[in-house]
Amino acid sequence: MKLRFLGTGTSTGVPALLCDCPVCRSDDPRDRRSRTSALLTTPDGKNLLIDCGPDFRTQALDAHSPKIDALIITHHHYDHVGGIDDLRPYCHHRTSADGDMPVYGSRDVIDDIHRRLPYCFGDNLYPGVPTFDLHEIIPGKQFTAAGTKVMPIAVRHGEATICGFHIGSLGYITDCSTLPDESLTALHGIDTLVINALRMKPHRSHMNLEQALTVIRDVNPRRAWLIHMSHDIGLHSQTDISLPQGVNLAYDGLVIEIPD
Ligand SMILES: [Zn+2]
Ligand SMILES: [Zn+2]
Repeated sequence: MKLRFLGTGTSTGVPALLCDCPVCRSDDPRDRRSRTSALLTTPDGKNLLIDCGPDFRTQALDAHSPKIDALIITHHHYDHVGGIDDLRPYCHHRTSADGDMPVYGSRDVIDDIHRRLPYCFGDNLYPGVPTFDLHEIIPGKQFTAAGTKVMPIAVRHGEATICGFHIGSLGYITDCSTLPDESLTALHGIDTLVINALRMKPHRSHMNLEQALTVIRDVNPRRAWLIHMSHDIGLHSQTDISLPQGVNLAYDGLVIEIPD
């Protein structure tokens, strides 16, 4: 499998508006972090989009408009769903045999999409609106998206329970403050763990770097990549070299190989 990090930034993105800290002023492209999202290419060549935030359009252009076979969503916060309307051209490229663009999310996500994009559902749709085939998922209950088995994992995000994903030998955990024991256990044995690390200081609804490293030590994957970072994670060039062996900061546009 192949994973492209489309975006690796927290909800504000980096640089943050109105900020002139050294990270937000950095010329290093790895310090430019759009809102967190990723594209997974499965062993049979299908592309699963993981979250679709407000930077989706430019992320897809930077990736040369890759095909997208399904969207899987971790939770309904704006930085993870704000770009769904921009899937319009993808919806229009689907044939009647393909059906509408499949979207997988928890009940909260599905309700939010109905509220956020009411014009995409119902009768007498305005011509040209994107159309979706929504599927409810439940943590602990495996589903199949674009021919690939996906296990949603329960993740605590502040007061909310959201989804992480276990797909083949990949674990993908964003917007996590704590992981229930059964979710940690479910990740044991994976090759690659992608996990959020917001900043150095603690935060109510996200892991800081130290908490992410603790989970990485527990899960013990071959490789771990950090995502959903704010400018407070520091300069990529400085923070990345301070990390333990096998752990790195991801950055926008990075593509990694994951054993099938
Ligand atoms: Zn969130
Ligand atoms: Zn987020």
